Amino acid sequence: MSSVPELFGSMVFDDKVMRARLSAEVYDSLRDTIRKGKKLDLSVANAVADAMCAWAVENGATHFTHWFQPLTGITAEKHDGFISPAPDSHVLMKFSGRALIQGEPDASSFPSGGLRATFEARGYTAWDPTSYAFIKEKTLCIPTAFCSYGGEALDKKTPLLRSMEALNSQALRILRLFGNADVQRVVPNVGPEQEYFLIDREMYLKRKDLIYTGRTLFGAKPPKGQELEDHYFGAIKPRVKAFMEDLDEELWKLGVYAKTEHNEVAPCQHELAPIFTVTNVAADHNQLTMEIMKKVARRHGLVCLLHEKPFAGVNGSGKHNNWSMSTDTGLNLLSPGETPYENAQFLLFLVAVIKAVDEYQGLLRLGVASAGNDHRLGANEAPPAVISVFLGDELSAVLEAIETDSPYTGTEKRRLRLGTDVLPRFNRDTTDRNRTSPFAFTGNKFEFRMVGSSDSISCANIMINAAVAEALRQFADRLEGAEDFDAALHELIRENIAAHKRIIFNGNGYDDAWIKEATEVRGLLNLRTTPDALQMVLHPENIGMLVRHGIFSEAEIRSRYEITLENYVRTVRIEALTMLDMARREILPALRRYRGELASSYGAAKQLVPVLPCRSDVKLITRLTSLIDAIDESTEALASFVAAIGGDVSEEAFFIRDKVLDAMAALRKVCDEAETITAAEYWPFPTYGDLLFGV
Ligand code: ADP
Ligand code: MG
Repeated sequence: MSSVPELFGSMVFDDKVMRARLSAEVYDSLRDTIRKGKKLDLSVANAVADAMCAWAVENGATHFTHWFQPLTGITAEKHDGFISPAPDSHVLMKFSGRALIQGEPDASSFPSGGLRATFEARGYTAWDPTSYAFIKEKTLCIPTAFCSYGGEALDKKTPLLRSMEALNSQALRILRLFGNADVQRVVPNVGPEQEYFLIDREMYLKRKDLIYTGRTLFGAKPPKGQELEDHYFGAIKPRVKAFMEDLDEELWKLGVYAKTEHNEVAPCQHELAPIFTVTNVAADHNQLTMEIMKKVARRHGLVCLLHEKPFAGVNGSGKHNNWSMSTDTGLNLLSPGETPYENAQFLLFLVAVIKAVDEYQGLLRLGVASAGNDHRLGANEAPPAVISVFLGDELSAVLEAIETDSPYTGTEKRRLRLGTDVLPRFNRDTTDRNRTSPFAFTGNKFEFRMVGSSDSISCANIMINAAVAEALRQFADRLEGAEDFDAALHELIRENIAAHKRIIFNGNGYDDAWIKEATEVRGLLNLRTTPDALQMVLHPENIGMLVRHGIFSEAEIRSRYEITLENYVRTVRIEALTMLDMARREILPALRRYRGELASSYGAAKQLVPVLPCRSDVKLITRLTSLIDAIDESTEALASFVAAIGGDVSEEAFFIRDKVLDAMAALRKVCDEAETITAAEYWPFPTYGDLLFGV
């Protein structure tokens, strides 16, 4: 392998390449587009396209594609060759500015939730010049947004970019109030820590549930699970190590800042953390990371499972979405400063986030809603479905002192006056101890831990950006009109701490007592399932906020609501059908074979030793028989519920939540019980023990 600095970004048309290959004029113009969102004109686009094409061809590319993120959850590409005819039956490798800026995939097969009638199948993709183009599998990939001709967003990038813009404009208003005139742009940054499982491919191929649904639908608890927690600090196994090295290399070539690779608590669970970057780039990179993980795993005879809950009773996988805001002058707005003014500014942004999370709990929960994530939120080691903010004791004490105008009783005992006093120093290390909080302040960023491992991080970040933009808008409205800025600021922060402190919780988020307190005393939302969470988006105040900031139109919101519910219904229906298939065609036949074998050996033994009837044989055959009947009955029950799924998509989703999932759990229970008394050689597919400890 060549050196890492040499390797890093070698397949990316990044700033270094642009500078080397574009004229100063073109480069400056493109830079302006990237930094300030200035419109790109066609002559510049043509020059960029020429340089991009030449660079891509030199690096082995033969095709190009607009790379985008439709609402299916994965990325989409439609490859076109660079090849174009030239005189004398020669060919040229060519690519135009127009092809760079805009593309027209046949959009009819992507979900639009009714936004685009199928007869009007045209949608277009538009280059996002703030995310660099890259080469993957001999194809130049151009990150793009995907819209209908009416301008409605049909993807995840478009609203993400809009939410970043909203946050930028509101944050700038606040910064101006603090006399900050140099800052031109505020961007949200994200470092998404990606969890995943690696299992052996041969075993994977023997399980239809993994193949069709990405998770196990059956499986008795193995004798050893994760209780020893010996995996977390354990050495990384050679096969996994080889995978990680290979993965890092692939990601580095694509300019993804993969930095930390380590084991997680559950056996065969691991994590990859990249260095944080601007949110839309982080989202693109995370999509790439997931794709490359799967591809590289295959090369090592492994399968990478990105599902949120591949194994019942074992930790699920999430993405810890580390989020902060920073300025183009290099200031992290969530970092406590050195001077009284910097402190006051920090506190204002901090309180804005607290207010945002409290007021838009429902939107945050809905931004991470999926059938897969429903199994994780609230389960072992996952954050609960109730959203709360962890600040740590010291920072909480600071806020309390401000709210009650009483002396701060941390390291120093004194009153705090915003704008005049320096904040007491609080120890950063104490802010990252709580692993059970869904939204934790970790020193200079917030860590949103509810995002599912297989999901795009876009939806969650759209909601965070939108909610924070709204809080900042309200703050700016009030402060811009204030006569005495310092007094108004102090009062604003004080009031908002009082109004939103119910969302702050520093205790154990897994504790049942907390869920009770959160919902019954504090009135926080506990949205346990996707259909519940999705209803939140239809609340007029939520629609109003998203529309006000230009993040979604009402039609876009309603279409996304439909699509997400449809995905939920489809996902669970496939799971239910897979269970039926496995129970009827694999589990029941195996149990009957085993019972037959027992019966004939019992008959043979009885002939041999007639005076000694083997009671244990009779017992086992009897038990197997009653389990076979129970499985058969549960199968029929599930089948009839699946057949009864109907109505509009919301009725279907609620029917699934209330009936189908229970019937699936009932079928699983009897099958898992049967597994524990069936001879290993008869069980038709690899067990939990095989899968979890098989790498
Ligand atoms: P910790 O262990 O305290 O959570 P790490 O350094 O391990 O911190 O970071 C975890 C993730 O958070 C990494 O992806 C990292 O790049 C990201 N991160 C660090 N600082 C920031 C920040 N200011 N904004 C967004 N993400 C950040
Ligand atoms: Mg962390």
